[in-house]
Amino acid sequence: MTDSRRTTPRTDDVLADPRLVAAARRIGRPLVKRTVTDTLELCRSGQVSPADVADVAVGALPPLASGLRPVLNATGVVVHTNLGRAPLSEAAVAAVVAAAGATAVELDLATGRRATRGRTALRALADAVPGAEAAHVVNNGAAAVALAAATLAQGGNAVIARGEMVEIGDGFRIPELVESVGVTLREVGTTNRVRLDDYAEAVDAETGFVLKVHPSNFSVTGFTSSVPVAELATLSVPVVADIGSGLLRPHPRLPAEPSASRTLADGAALVTASGDKLLGGPQCGLLLGRASVVGRLRRHPLARAMRVDKLTLAALEATLTGPAPPVARALGRTREELMRRAERLAAALTDLVPASAEPSEAAVGGGGAPGVVLPSAAVLLPQRLAAPLRAGDPAVVGRVEGGRLWLDLVAVEPEQDDGLAAAVRRAVAAPPGPRS
Ligand SMILES: *Cc1c(COP(=O)(O)O)cnc(C)c1O
Repeated sequence: MTDSRRTTPRTDDVLADPRLVAAARRIGRPLVKRTVTDTLELCRSGQVSPADVADVAVGALPPLASGLRPVLNATGVVVHTNLGRAPLSEAAVAAVVAAAGATAVELDLATGRRATRGRTALRALADAVPGAEAAHVVNNGAAAVALAAATLAQGGNAVIARGEMVEIGDGFRIPELVESVGVTLREVGTTNRVRLDDYAEAVDAETGFVLKVHPSNFSVTGFTSSVPVAELATLSVPVVADIGSGLLRPHPRLPAEPSASRTLADGAALVTASGDKLLGGPQCGLLLGRASVVGRLRRHPLARAMRVDKLTLAALEATLTGPAPPVARALGRTREELMRRAERLAAALTDLVPASAEPSEAAVGGGGAPGVVLPSAAVLLPQRLAAPLRAGDPAVVGRVEGGRLWLDLVAVEPEQDDGLAAAVRRAVAAPPGPRS
């Protein structure tokens, strides 16, 4: 103990190692220094020998200057809130990288004059949704609802069905959000049933709009009724439909999930949605609808406070115009192809660790379509591998069920299978310890 303390190298001497000098240029000196300090602590307590300090520090360096590390999503939940919802497509990632430096987000390079911010992304959005005369983008779905409410009913009221007063997650509730921008909510109907007459009686001279909220994270069954957008559109005030998921067109596997194009065709004046759920793009909030309404939204003071950055605009446009993003690809997979992949993986691992391929039931997740089961397949491994897999690079997150670790393949790209197998091999070999 005293011996290792006496022979512990000095911080500056370790930091002079060329590999650590290069790392400081890549991820910044404070991170490198913290890693070295931690390693020297291990040296003082005798867990690392003085000669190994530099090597151990190099091995322990974080790969990026950000704590957000890549994860292979083997949970079987396609849009996983805790894993950042939708993963971006390759095209969207390339667009983000290109926009990361100086970029002409508000400049027309042909004329040299100022131009509408994000005009190509907005055009792509309007083009993708038949029936949308105009489009606007804000920071997330909640911002889209708040901006719509503030623009159409600030100082007045909005009418909403009691059964649609939903909590969207983390304790945040749509009704409180709407009221926070100075709109009084008039609840109509009961928890399970509401009729067009209920709405008609509640609408008065102060009503700015009727709000229709899609129950995207729960389902109500039994003696229920709600009023479809097509009927609400016969009322004397505009209908704002919060469809949540961001599905632009109907999807054959998600028959109960409303799409922006159908909802507009049914007569909604405005549709609000998230960009990072079923659309599969970056976090943002979409507002689609009548040109007169969208024009007013854009000029509301809150629009500036909810403005999206150039990286979001770049990723959104590439999601809309480029090849299908990972969420869309995941929704298109069949159990047969997923079983074949699971069997191949299990066969490749079984000499090392008990591994088998099993049919699995996956879910859309935070993106919507509650109750929809996506037929999938998984590789089953011993549960003890869950922690070392999460600690690996890339981290692999599966789900523990029935005492086994399920690595569900629905949200894993086929090109990632070899990386998944390699991660399992490393996890099997990882020494048990505080990091695992
Ligand atoms: C997800 C969701 C929201 C909130 O969207 P965020 O992008 O998370 O802000 C609002 N309404 C509905 C119906 C939703 O499903």
